Amino acid sequence: MNSVLILVALAFLAVVCINWTLMSQSTDSVAFCPATGQCNCDGADYMSPNHPWKRDRSLQLKDSPKKLLWFVQISDIHISEYYDENRIRNFESFCAETIPAIKPSVVIASGDLTDAKTKDYIGSRQSLKEWEAYQAAVKDSGVLSHTAWLDLRGNHDNFNVFDVHSPENHYRTHSVQGGTHLRSYKHTVMKDGDNYTFVALDASPSPGMKKPFNFIGMVLEKEWDVARKLEEEARCSSFSVWFAHYPTSSILAPSPGLRWLIRRSLVFLAGHFHTFGGMVPVMHAIHRPHGNLELELGDWKEGRRFRLAAIDNGLLSHATVHFGQWPIVLVTNPKDARYLLPLHEPLDLMRTSTHIRVLVFSLGEVTEVRCRIDGGAWERMSANRNEPNLKWERTVMISS
Ligand SMILES: [Zn+2]
Repeated sequence: MNSVLILVALAFLAVVCINWTLMSQSTDSVAFCPATGQCNCDGADYMSPNHPWKRDRSLQLKDSPKKLLWFVQISDIHISEYYDENRIRNFESFCAETIPAIKPSVVIASGDLTDAKTKDYIGSRQSLKEWEAYQAAVKDSGVLSHTAWLDLRGNHDNFNVFDVHSPENHYRTHSVQGGTHLRSYKHTVMKDGDNYTFVALDASPSPGMKKPFNFIGMVLEKEWDVARKLEEEARCSSFSVWFAHYPTSSILAPSPGLRWLIRRSLVFLAGHFHTFGGMVPVMHAIHRPHGNLELELGDWKEGRRFRLAAIDNGLLSHATVHFGQWPIVLVTNPKDARYLLPLHEPLDLMRTSTHIRVLVFSLGEVTEVRCRIDGGAWERMSANRNEPNLKWERTVMISS
């Protein structure tokens, strides 16, 4: 029995290593759809001197809240009718309290919304009860009046589902997006003259196998055509953010491949690996040569994690947050140097900026924020209250 367990553990580790190795690789040439807000943007490479961010010398990061958009990702919620009742209770609080306090433009729920396991934890089946709990948490909390909720199927939501039209596909009837979008879709947010397009890629195999046979995602020809069309449409946007349940390393797709397809995007967000039981707590990669970012998010199921991300004048920043952790702080300028994306971001803006910019959220009023640089003296920062629509009493933009 012990040797069987060791073999299983070794196989598990091999999958981790292979996946991580694959996440560090990429292919093909560089191209980037710029911040024009126009559809005719093919070939306008960010490396070109004609790129709009480079042409517009008036752009400077000061204390204006313009051209700042933030969003949240939650993944692998695994609502279960048998295990861990706090999981759904905490998720209800996340919808009812956390999101209204943050007021993100978008919440991405990147799959495994339900657990879909049998009581003995061995078999799998779709549970209407779990889907009803998910639907009630999202709808009854009123969270949909605060944000756009973009949910997507994960492998657990697809266990034993013959196809998207079958009665077992409760995503179709009990999710936010499933009634309109059976599979991949896009959602665009317009703000301060920029379009931000969020593309959801459903890589769930069809038919959906039983546990544990759908660990790898697949984009077959028909869905690939849909994804390519979504990508073409997303080029019309200033920025595109892709998300899926599976990381790119565990999605099979037709040539020239998924990383080629998403090469113009700023970031690809995924879940699915759950930090591999804590063994790989951070799974992030910058794909070469396209230079875009991929971020896996640990699970809600055990870790109660979610991600806060912001695009501040083209600069992407992100933080993993634990449920119940307040205040939530995200520095958007200067951004974390480990995640600089020179092929996709106007990094010059950081050099010429006059302000440190921070998003701060709390359940109560934020009365004071201070910062210090490299162990220097603490300095009081000021809130920007010039944008009444953004409810700045809980969202503090900090100036130096
Ligand atoms: Zn999961």
